[in-house]
Amino acid sequence: MKRVNLLEFDVAGLSAYVESIGEKAFRARQLSRWIHQRGAPDFESMTDLARTLRTHLQHRAEIAAPPILRDSASADGTRKWLLDVGAGNAVETVFIPEVDRGTLCVSSQAGCAVNCMFCSTGRQGFSRNLSTAEIVAQLWLAEHALRRSHDDGADERVISNVVLMGMGEPLQNYEALLPALRLMLDDHAYGLSRRRVTVSTSGMVPQIDRLADECPVALAVSLHAPTDELRDRLVPLNRKYPLRELMAACRRYLRVAPRDFITFEYVMLDGLNDSDRHAVELLALVQDVPCKFNLIPFNPFPDSGLARSSAGRIRAFAQRLSDAGIVTTVRRTRGEDIDAACGQLAGEVQDRTRRRERVVPIAAERPR
Ligand code: SAH
Ligand code: SF4
Repeated sequence: MKRVNLLEFDVAGLSAYVESIGEKAFRARQLSRWIHQRGAPDFESMTDLARTLRTHLQHRAEIAAPPILRDSASADGTRKWLLDVGAGNAVETVFIPEVDRGTLCVSSQAGCAVNCMFCSTGRQGFSRNLSTAEIVAQLWLAEHALRRSHDDGADERVISNVVLMGMGEPLQNYEALLPALRLMLDDHAYGLSRRRVTVSTSGMVPQIDRLADECPVALAVSLHAPTDELRDRLVPLNRKYPLRELMAACRRYLRVAPRDFITFEYVMLDGLNDSDRHAVELLALVQDVPCKFNLIPFNPFPDSGLARSSAGRIRAFAQRLSDAGIVTTVRRTRGEDIDAACGQLAGEVQDRTRRRERVVPIAAERPR
């Protein structure tokens, strides 16, 4: 009989599960605290659960995370796990420590179907959606591994922020994502505030509205272009959900957003989207959407046919936006010595014959 993986459930799901085996619903909260807060690896150690329940779980359930294929640590403290999600697919999770927070960058799919022109994950194509357990397991594994590696063995929380900015388009895997987000927020699990969990999307308009209704965490939108003509080329999803609709969805989201702004991500591509004219067009586009901009210097990969804007151009572009009163940051790449880059090693595992470098930035924000 196949065991039930308890990482698959949010706390409501766990309640339904424990009730289905004849237990009281509140046992789910205890179970959740053991699994997510204390990182209990097995049921035997859950000492305040009745022996009968523990024995039942030992036979029928499991706490199963994908196997770790590689665990690398950068000189700057960035840490990266490569996880085996089966059938030759692997995904990455990256922890980025900063002075005042610890951010985990989580993947939502193996590959991605959106196929943005500048993204190596997109170039890999789409393999499959991750399950809720595979999404949650990234946080579960990372949080408890990081705690164990602290000398003092303290039980203090290490991950303070989660960003869905790893491999994949999270809002194209909405059904599996939602319970994972709920666990991140639940006080009986990770207890993160809604401001500290960010979903990044290339612009799935209907799912932005669903997220607003069902679990309004912080929203980042990968904008990358000020006009439909250019965005159609860079982010093919724009042909389905053009800018006018996307901006309207952002405005609707702001009514419930935990932060009173949308973060717009904008990859800086030399000669393509980085001129002063583009900046002026952007300002017109977002004029009635309270927002911040995060400029991402393009991370080149072979055969991309694209180049990163110069540092001077990025500065000038950022200045244009700041001068208009929009808080603008430039993303700083972290963990370069371990290729802490979404998609890179995952691609290597999926297709060993291709020697392509796959670089998507995992980076920290630096206020200008
Ligand atoms: N699919 C989601 C989230 C994952 S990508 C999205 O697109 O928003 C996280 C960020 O990295 C996105 O803003 C994406 O546009 C950006 N990105 C992808 N490839 C990049 C590259 N080669 N260089 C710089 N940024 C890149
Ligand atoms: Fe997918 Fe995001 Fe990459 Fe676009 S940038 S291909 S949406 S992962």
